[in-house]
Amino acid sequence: MSERFAEKMHDPEVIKDTRLLGDFSVIYCRGVHTDAVRMPLVSDGAELGVYGDALPVVCAECAELLRYAEKRRAFCPKDPKPFCSYCDTHCYKPDMREQMREVMRYAGPRSMLHGHAVDGIKHLIEGRKHKRAARRAQDTDGAV
Ligand code: SF4
Ligand SMILES: [Zn+2]
Repeated sequence: MSERFAEKMHDPEVIKDTRLLGDFSVIYCRGVHTDAVRMPLVSDGAELGVYGDALPVVCAECAELLRYAEKRRAFCPKDPKPFCSYCDTHCYKPDMREQMREVMRYAGPRSMLHGHAVDGIKHLIEGRKHKRAARRAQDTDGAV
């Protein structure tokens, strides 16, 4: 693990976002990967105590995504940072991006029932803004 990563992982905003990602992944994994074997996450972020005492318990596939997402979040150039699924300069590899989109799409609305009312609503609002902007861009492209 690099020193720079460890340093970034002490930023309260990075910790908050990474924990949220962990919680969203747990909601997604439980709901979608129903038959998978789940274990407490092993990652650099977990080692640094980013998730506190409650490590995300997820399957191997979700753990891989979370390990990747920890790195992306730590080095995110956006400030303020949008939800990754609505970011205009997406820094994820295409397959990871698609996976994260699925996680957010599934867990975003459900997170409101799992102690994330504010984040769930924020996700909903950002999603609507994103859709409106995409529609406007389409209309502009279609205009003569
Ligand atoms: S996708 Fe966008 S918001 Fe997410 S980490 Fe990458 S640059 Fe930051
Ligand atoms: Zn999973």
